[in-house]
Amino acid sequence: MIFSSALIENAVNEFARMPGIGKKTALRLVLHLLKQEPSQVQQFSEVIARMRQQIRFCQQCHNVSDEDICSICASHSRKKELVCVVENIRDVMAIENTQQYNGLYHVLGGIISPIDGIGPDQLNIHSLVERVQQQGITEVIMALSPTIEGDTTIYYLSKKLKELPVKITTIARGIAFGGELEYADEMTLARSITNRLPLESYMQK
Ligand SMILES: [Zn+2]
Repeated sequence: MIFSSALIENAVNEFARMPGIGKKTALRLVLHLLKQEPSQVQQFSEVIARMRQQIRFCQQCHNVSDEDICSICASHSRKKELVCVVENIRDVMAIENTQQYNGLYHVLGGIISPIDGIGPDQLNIHSLVERVQQQGITEVIMALSPTIEGDTTIYYLSKKLKELPVKITTIARGIAFGGELEYADEMTLARSITNRLPLESYMQK
């Protein structure tokens, strides 16, 4: 692609670094921005920059947050004794979209994957054990992807929580998932949370 303006070329290259955006789409977006008022484009770039600079992670559940404690943890209408363990913030969004879950979350920040060099120490596991010890949590729901890594992580967590007076369940994963939790359609995901199983019955399969 040949440009007569280095300014446009730079902008196209920045957009093309986004996942799923090729050079052609990037050019279309840039040309669209060129048609806007400069003040509008200024606002666009400021919103993006502010989002990146000011985003925080909830001190309790590690979800993205505007405050020290996220809006889910701070809500009075959520069941505080119920915690759903997920891999990342996209899973939180997927489960929230079902509108069928009324407990809290715990975002691990990944799953155990020796191949990728991710061990338990790199994940938010210690803080989960602390929460279960200190916050009167009665049930931990494992909502991790149905992969070897997901199973390894569930096994590790269940051993860590074994001595504590807490029920451990897993989302029903016999139902066909698209692989990753976030790709499951809302109905399927909602049903699998409602029909969650005790960990023992899952492990025996
Ligand atoms: Zn939180």
